[in-house]
Amino acid sequence: MTTVHVPAPRPTAADLSVWPASTTEAAHGDLAVGGVPLTEIADRFGTPVYVLDEAEVRERCRTYRDEFPEAEVLYAAKAFLCRAMAHWIDEEGLGLDVCSAGELELAVTTGFPPERIVLHGNAKSPRDLDTALRLGVGRIVIDSPSEIARLAAAVGPDGHQKVMARVVPGISAGGHEKIRTGSDDQKFGLSISDGYAQHAIARILDQPQLELTGLHCHLGSQITTVKPYLVAVRRMVGLMMRLHEQHGLVLPELDLGGGHGIAYRPGEPALDLTTLARRIRAELADACATAGLPEPRLLIEPGRAIAGPAGVALYHVLAVKHTGDRIFVAVDGGMSDNPRPALYGVRYAPRLVGRRSTAAPARVTVVGRHCEAGDVLASDVDLPRDVHPGDLLAVPVAGAYHLSMASGYNLVGRPPLTAVRDGHARLLVRRESLDDIRNRDVGL
Ligand SMILES: *Cc1c(COP(=O)(O)O)cnc(C)c1O
Repeated sequence: MTTVHVPAPRPTAADLSVWPASTTEAAHGDLAVGGVPLTEIADRFGTPVYVLDEAEVRERCRTYRDEFPEAEVLYAAKAFLCRAMAHWIDEEGLGLDVCSAGELELAVTTGFPPERIVLHGNAKSPRDLDTALRLGVGRIVIDSPSEIARLAAAVGPDGHQKVMARVVPGISAGGHEKIRTGSDDQKFGLSISDGYAQHAIARILDQPQLELTGLHCHLGSQITTVKPYLVAVRRMVGLMMRLHEQHGLVLPELDLGGGHGIAYRPGEPALDLTTLARRIRAELADACATAGLPEPRLLIEPGRAIAGPAGVALYHVLAVKHTGDRIFVAVDGGMSDNPRPALYGVRYAPRLVGRRSTAAPARVTVVGRHCEAGDVLASDVDLPRDVHPGDLLAVPVAGAYHLSMASGYNLVGRPPLTAVRDGHARLLVRRESLDDIRNRDVGL
């Protein structure tokens, strides 16, 4: 009789591929990010809490500068903005994309140079425009025809403002229908195909106080292949060629927006920046040569690719429930600090930290504490079968579109944000308290 040797399941090294580069395994199943054990952060600041690895943010900025040395790289503040973040972005030499007076004013009052800021928005309020002009924002991206006269009037006959025109190149790309912005059937931009863009641009050129520096497009978010960007380069240069023929216009800038995709779970694809830079460069050179135009200076606007992988969310498990064939693991946060799974079905890979379990994995659904059945943080993920209340769960890739989208739902209060660096953690944004909530509530 032969004995079949079945190797005992060995604890495999944790897959840390989507975690910040500084992440290391620490004692008792803990992980350390930026040299700080996550259990220590949970103890010190409570949960839910967000952790941002400063070195990871800076390193990602540097990667963009290295890969696109000839381009202007603008961080899209809507992914996540706080004063420290504005400092880091400034120090790393990037510009900033904002889409409201709030984001703009926070950045400028923190010392961010306004001339390196670009204001976006499909519906800019009078306050947005006034703030932009008052603070001297570098460029304003025009997104609708009605904005042109409004902006020209606000600038005044003796004023001057650099603008770009947001164009819809007619390309469908992006991780989910709700984050695709490059096609004609959504609210952003001026369409090339129906002549809207050309018409609006002619009107901008009629306003002497508005200086059109270039065209802008943003295809969508979570794009993991290079192809849509190359098609965009062709279409944008095509429009630049027609504008040159019609108006003798030579535009010095071309903004290709952001949307660079990242992996949220191990094994998922991410957009390769080296390839993106090389292929865009070649495509732009070729398209401009064919069109007989000088090459414009490139602008790009990454948001999540800078902030997303630098962030980790920490939650405590509050309840574990077995219903039929499902196991629900409920934590002390949820859709009020991360609405992304509910909004567009994003999948995350939470893991247990601070306790080493020898239990076999079980397929569970990690849910939040909010009063919605759709308050799911991660469906069908493997956690140790003995997961129980009091356990600490960590969710990587939580730096973008979490806290910036956080809401006041159920008056739970928005979590704090801590930064880690060189073995130290510091509080950047404190937890929203009941006092904060009560202070805004001024009537009875
Ligand atoms: C959202 C947005 C970005 C950034 O998108 P990411 O997916 O975070 O890279 C860039 N530019 C514009 C105009 C945007 O609206």
